[in-house]
Amino acid sequence: MTQGCYDVVIVGGGLGGAALGRALAGEGIRTLIVERESAFRDRVRGEGMMPWGVVEARALGIDRLLCEGGAHEVHGWTRYAGSAQGQCRDLVATTPGHTVCLDFYHPAMQRTLLDAAEDAGATVIRGAEFVGVERGSAPVAQLRTRSGEQRVSARLVVGADGRRSTVRRSAGFTVNQDAGRLVIAGVLLEGVDASEDSVHHFVSPSSGQAALLFPIGGQRFRAYFVTGIVQRRQPISGSRHVGEFIDACVDTGVPRDWYERVSAIGPLAAYPGADCWVDHPYHDGVVLIGDAAAASDPSWGCGLSLTLRDVRVLRDGLLGTDDWSAAAHAYAGQHDQYYGALHRVEDWLTQLIYERGPVADARRARILPCFAKEPDRAPDFPGLGPETPSDEAARRRFFVEDYDSPQCGSGAV
Ligand SMILES: Cc1cc2nc3c(=O)[nH]c(=O)nc-3n(C[C@H](O)[C@H](O)[C@H](O)COP(=O)(O)OP(=O)(O)OC[C@H]3O[C@@H](n4cnc5c(N)ncnc54)[C@H](O)[C@@H]3O)c2cc1C
Repeated sequence: MTQGCYDVVIVGGGLGGAALGRALAGEGIRTLIVERESAFRDRVRGEGMMPWGVVEARALGIDRLLCEGGAHEVHGWTRYAGSAQGQCRDLVATTPGHTVCLDFYHPAMQRTLLDAAEDAGATVIRGAEFVGVERGSAPVAQLRTRSGEQRVSARLVVGADGRRSTVRRSAGFTVNQDAGRLVIAGVLLEGVDASEDSVHHFVSPSSGQAALLFPIGGQRFRAYFVTGIVQRRQPISGSRHVGEFIDACVDTGVPRDWYERVSAIGPLAAYPGADCWVDHPYHDGVVLIGDAAAASDPSWGCGLSLTLRDVRVLRDGLLGTDDWSAAAHAYAGQHDQYYGALHRVEDWLTQLIYERGPVADARRARILPCFAKEPDRAPDFPGLGPETPSDEAARRRFFVEDYDSPQCGSGAV
């Protein structure tokens, strides 16, 4: 027996589900959000949203809301080549949207947005689990709640349930998975002695490692260490390995004295650095957004922004027509395009920074001096995201195949 009827059932009250639920409920669409957790905890997820994602947040009207919920505006992005003096980019002055990077404590962001969805009129069931879906023109979501099993029918079921999506599996989508090349470890640190008005991004191509520090306010930084699985067979994970994590970041170039008074205030966890995605994430009344549609390699920090792009594109489609199947198909087609572009460029960057061996060394020796002379050869991920050129001409330019000699600037072919 079906026990409820909504226009939309959204599974997952993370960034994607809560932002979409708020946007649709605010337009009078009967929206149910089902979230497994009763209270959010630190899952070691993204906390640094790139400027192109902040443009999406603005378009959804949630940028101010996020700031009121404790998000921290960061104006600079400082890149360090190993331990060399960093170069700080002024994000507001140099990004197309003239935007900051927005950093936040992930559980606080989830709480803020889910409460806002409820305030906008969505029904939110916390502590309930989606267990299955019957696809079709009137799909039915099966839920396990505190009061027992429930069946809820809708015009559309949205899978916003993250990288291990149950909706995706239950609806029979085929999942594509890149081979794991990288591993990313992250932990929340308090007391880091570094500027809180910049993201700090250390890259050491000679050792195939990177370290990132995203300030989230109150001298708290979400810290990540990224390396190839070839270099480090045993990922750094578990609270007793915080010292090892810090040593690895110092080895990548972060000054040791930044950590003098530091303490870990959350779990230390490691994840595979690989993409996992679905082509055309809509069929038969079930649409996927956020990590459920495409979990992009966390090493490149685009997941939050990509999730908000999904929300904005799907929202616009659903509000623009009564034919929701056509709107969801159109979203899925666009998703293939913009996610595909990100995926291509991430792959080039992974080859350049993290691959090991003589061929990779020769590639770096050819390309990196050219990037130094002509910085616009390097993709502008923070500013442009998927709009970073990623066609064949851009690929040739990235890999410096548009010159007839290895010397950068010796004459275009
Ligand atoms: C280590 C790491 C570092 C990252 N760093 C960055 C970064 O710096 N910048 C960036 O932009 N991105 C980063 N990301 C990616 C970013 O965290 C994700 O892209 C983003 O959180 C995706 O949001 P979402 O709403 O799609 O999914 P999620 O945040 O995973 O939310 C899914 C929600 O669904 C709920 N749920 C799951 N299953 C069920 C079920 N069966 N029933 C009911 N509810 C369910 C979960 O409890 C959760 O609340 C990182 C990811 C990782 C792993």
